[in-house]
Amino acid sequence: MKLNELRAHELLPMIERQEVTVEEAVTETLDRIAAIDGIIKAYITVTGERALQRAKEADARLRKGEPPRPLEGLSVAIKDNICTKGVRTTGASRYLEDFIPPYDATVVERLEDAGAIVVGKTNMDEFAMGSSTENSAMFPTKNPWNLKRVPGGSSGGSAACVIAEEAVFSLGSDTGGSIRQPASFCGIVGLKPSYGLVSRYGLIGYASSMDQIGPMARDVKDCALILQAIAGYDQRDSQSYPNELPDYTGCLIPDIRNITVGVPKEFLDEGLSKTVKDAFMKALEKLEELGAKVVEVSLPHVRHALAAYYVISSAEASSNLARLDGVRYGYRAAGCEDSASMMAVSRGEGLGPEVKRRIVLGTYVLSEENHKKYFNEALKVRSLISQDFQEVFEMCDCLMGPTSPTVAFEAGEKTRNPLEMYLSDVYTVPPNLAGIPGISVPCGFDEEGMPIGLQIMAGQYDEATLLRVAYAFEQATDFHKGRPDTQKGAHESAGGGRSV
Ligand code: GLN
Repeated sequence: MKLNELRAHELLPMIERQEVTVEEAVTETLDRIAAIDGIIKAYITVTGERALQRAKEADARLRKGEPPRPLEGLSVAIKDNICTKGVRTTGASRYLEDFIPPYDATVVERLEDAGAIVVGKTNMDEFAMGSSTENSAMFPTKNPWNLKRVPGGSSGGSAACVIAEEAVFSLGSDTGGSIRQPASFCGIVGLKPSYGLVSRYGLIGYASSMDQIGPMARDVKDCALILQAIAGYDQRDSQSYPNELPDYTGCLIPDIRNITVGVPKEFLDEGLSKTVKDAFMKALEKLEELGAKVVEVSLPHVRHALAAYYVISSAEASSNLARLDGVRYGYRAAGCEDSASMMAVSRGEGLGPEVKRRIVLGTYVLSEENHKKYFNEALKVRSLISQDFQEVFEMCDCLMGPTSPTVAFEAGEKTRNPLEMYLSDVYTVPPNLAGIPGISVPCGFDEEGMPIGLQIMAGQYDEATLLRVAYAFEQATDFHKGRPDTQKGAHESAGGGRSV
């Protein structure tokens, strides 16, 4: 078995015992990227030289007898809306195509302090707006299980690179489903933590009242390990959670006999494909077999979640993206006569169609004549949804539903109809509105071999229960062990994104 095929918790003890060097592990990941990423196109930028340099430094420290750090030598891929000092961070937008941040995001700093090694920056929908990675201004990413399908989005590159074994794990961001939906489409585990648990300092903001950064990995244990390294108070994020955190790997006990699982009946409505529903029902049976109590619950207001989400997220996006004015950094159109036209033309030329659509929508719902009718109403819906969740969490330890109504769809299938694309997030958006955590774990494959995801949700800051239930389910099933056959076509082209 190659080193890049190992999970974090398998590779770590080998590095700790110095059976393999960090350089060997990182080299195998970089070789894999060179061999396969010309086809998958998960990376916008590959930081090979920098990674090897860091790997050598880590080996030197270990040889001197310094104790290994918690993520020593693990290759990590970072979504390209998370700032990396000295390494360009594009948000998959032409606007920031050559933007090189002067600072690291807190999560990057924490991962590197824990010994992880950044091997590259991953593709995404422009500024995290989308569900298929087709809104990237760079290129679309392929789903490693079937190259004609999308990997999901917006963290499509971060999901594809993990299942294609081009990184041990990755970071994504999730405002309405962007970690969980691609995790489900690519057959990996993706965790959106509670709002405020992980610092967003250095994340290019999309909708700041919902944005969260979280881990994407091949199993639950890896996710817990990474969460431990990145979670926790940061004074540079005003919404940061100040309290002590539990030991997330310590809570992985595969025993859920005293757990009550609620299934919101609204998550099984029309629009849910039969194969996904069947896999979900089988997952529930498995949980009952493991001793959990499964009960039906109702979240009466979630049917308005998607509408409220698109009003709130577009409003916040229109405000966040106002910083892209071509003045201090990013794209600036040439030949404009005054500053107003320079800003307008720069935005016109530098931003893609979906981003513009959201800015127009957001500006509209915030306008003097409309904000009461749309924005304030959406905020009310949001409070009602939060209340719905609070009420059911008085009866249940966690909730479950499908992550997405379908498996990964074909590239191009939904690009002409934004509403259809938005529906892909119908089950992932409610937790963002309520600020609660959600995780997607593999729970089956359809008849064409495409992965299906199970979403588990828990009360705010109760990641311990979330991970425990996810772990128990995973340990009782084999779906997380599935690997796509990426050998087919691997010879067709080589080389990943831009190398630095
Ligand atoms: N697909 C949703 C959107 O387009 C969610 C994106 C996200 O979570 N960043 O807004």
